[in-house]
Amino acid sequence: MATTRSERQDQPYNPCAGTILRVVEAPRRRMLTRADGQAYWRRRHVSEMKGKRVRPTPAEEIRKSFVNCSKGEAKKLTLPAGLDSQDWAATDFLGWVDPRAVNNAYLVLPRGEEVVGVVLRANNPPSSALRSSTCAFCLTTHMQSDVGLFAAPKAGAAGRRGNTVGTYVCADLACSAYVRRKRRPSAPQPAETIGDDERIARMLVNINQFVAKVLS
Ligand SMILES: [Zn+2]
Repeated sequence: MATTRSERQDQPYNPCAGTILRVVEAPRRRMLTRADGQAYWRRRHVSEMKGKRVRPTPAEEIRKSFVNCSKGEAKKLTLPAGLDSQDWAATDFLGWVDPRAVNNAYLVLPRGEEVVGVVLRANNPPSSALRSSTCAFCLTTHMQSDVGLFAAPKAGAAGRRGNTVGTYVCADLACSAYVRRKRRPSAPQPAETIGDDERIARMLVNINQFVAKVLS
């Protein structure tokens, strides 16, 4: 498997040197330190994630939620289509690809009562890795062309040095629709005995672990 730039990092993580990241400017605003953020994302379990959804989030709050891009980029990025008519009850997290710049994709996830946004870049998967056809978030099995390789710049100084975290996920980032079987993948799915609620909670745990790496 190809080595990502983040795996080549030689500096151990030092929480004392963590960059303070502003999450949202809301009445219940909290400052998210990198050490605090990692602990939050890593201790999530499936049972805690049951019933969690991203709450209806105004456009301005979405823009302020991104932890791994500049304020300038967050101001200009393309928001998800149909935000005003979003079915929030069926949206565990927001995931979208910018139709004007298809290499740019975004996630916005629930974090307690707040939201956290992560910028992704779509990469061409190396040919040796094309056997991978399962989304790392929702575990939907896809035909190879329907899984995308995305890299998230790490938050803070590590990201500015070019370090990223890579993952293979649904190319359309529509995991919320796949776990509810509202969108059908073209590949046959392995039999599962767990219900939708467990599948959704498992997906959120997987995304949390990805975000923990972005914040590390
Ligand atoms: Zn997925």
